[in-house]
Amino acid sequence: MKNIPYLPMIVDGRPYDTDQRLQVINPATEDVVAVVPRATREDLDAAVESSRIAFASWRMVPMEVRQQAVVALADAITDHVEMLAKLLVAEQGKPLADAKEEILNSAIMCRLAATMTLPVTVLEDTSERRVEVRHLPLGVVAAISPWNFPVFLPLWKVVYAILAGNTVVLKPSPYTPLTMLKICALAQGILPPGVFNIVTGDDELGPWVTEHPGIDRISFTGSTATGRKVMAGASATLKRVTLELGGNDAAIVLDDVDLDVVVPRIFWAAFSNNGQICMAAKRIYVQDGIYERFRDALAAYARQIRIGDGMTEGVQLGPIQNRPQYERVKALIEDAKMQGLTFVNWDAPLPSDGKGYFIPITIVDNPPDDARVVTEEAFGPVLPLLRFTTDEEVIERVNDTAYGLAGSVWTKDIQRGRALAEKFEAGVVWVNEALYLTPFMPFCGHKDSGIGVEGGMEGLLEYTNPQSLVIRKSA
Ligand code: NAD
Repeated sequence: MKNIPYLPMIVDGRPYDTDQRLQVINPATEDVVAVVPRATREDLDAAVESSRIAFASWRMVPMEVRQQAVVALADAITDHVEMLAKLLVAEQGKPLADAKEEILNSAIMCRLAATMTLPVTVLEDTSERRVEVRHLPLGVVAAISPWNFPVFLPLWKVVYAILAGNTVVLKPSPYTPLTMLKICALAQGILPPGVFNIVTGDDELGPWVTEHPGIDRISFTGSTATGRKVMAGASATLKRVTLELGGNDAAIVLDDVDLDVVVPRIFWAAFSNNGQICMAAKRIYVQDGIYERFRDALAAYARQIRIGDGMTEGVQLGPIQNRPQYERVKALIEDAKMQGLTFVNWDAPLPSDGKGYFIPITIVDNPPDDARVVTEEAFGPVLPLLRFTTDEEVIERVNDTAYGLAGSVWTKDIQRGRALAEKFEAGVVWVNEALYLTPFMPFCGHKDSGIGVEGGMEGLLEYTNPQSLVIRKSA
């Protein structure tokens, strides 16, 4: 029998074990990649206690030293990119090149975030009085993360939290805990014990985290449905919460675009990571005059994409990450078939051994606005193309959703593009661009896509409480 690796949790600077186990499945082969601990409430208590103790001294560590630690973490991640990327492919399914990109981008994010400093704002400085606003860390932050970007998304939380002087307990997705277990182990040579702990478990662990009285703040990324439960769970102990939730982002393609340039960009805006990106383009509105040409060019581009095991050379899209999500995406496609909708491209070849959670690229030709493929977030390779005529009409249809994460406009007319972009009810809007973020940009869902901010100075400050300090100069 094959020897299946075991990766322990990390608590208080050391590997930490417990009796029960969880299996991590490779979505391309359905084989077990590794087993990890399934934490009990007592294990979570131990992690929180360790982080509480560490907070007392970490909050006193000067900002420059915290910044240096984050840069050292970036170096350690970069030094181990090959090992980490292979593990990421095995647990998540994405192609090896994409896995390396996620890990190296995470290291870049660490380095850039470490250039930020908590500001001290002087509101008044007279002979009589000085008034300034400082920012104090909150305490123990719990980071709860999903399976689509198992390294970038949790690190985004961990790094900003510890830069601001907090300590962290990370709960990764039960589907993809492995690469962050390794990264957390690497971090132990850099950070004092307890500053960064990681606990693994299944979906019962999440509610224990949100209700835990020793945790001060929850930074959550995941679905809108779970986000509601997180907020409810955090209410009894009045925890601060940031919720980065689902999206159903629209892209508007105006009729002046150069199709050769824009079609590949829209394809990757929609299908990168197999559509499993919160801010992927999930509804494409194409203007009348170019609709057929755009549709046929997108289908032709899609036909030459190679789908398969992320470790196979030349593969561009991997499997859906886990079985429940695979079943959800298949059900959405089934519903579209039952509704009699037209599919543009239904003949993409899939790996032939019948293993793995593979779904072909599925483009739906001008479905009605109330079709489930339009109104729901697929989080898979399913994309509706929708025909529109005027700018006023399209922006109304774009905003007719409970979501408000991101969106894009594609045109040679920058002024017209900007005018449309400004009307999006969404946290990030791009003109002739997609999926572009920097660590200095605030990322925040509007409407049901979230509460609070991740990234940027706004995101850093969310890991703090402001303190107004008033000093009367004459005693
Ligand atoms: P999910 O909501 O099922 O799970 C996210 C995390 O929450 C996991 O770690 C899970 O174990 C945990 N969890 C589950 N139930 C919980 C509970 N009751 N209390 C606390 N934690 C609980 O989401 P997913 O399927 O892992 O990820 C896909 C979703 O995430 C999509 O909707 C996607 O749009 C969204 N997402 C959003 C962003 C963003 O930044 N806005 C980024 C990536 C993904």
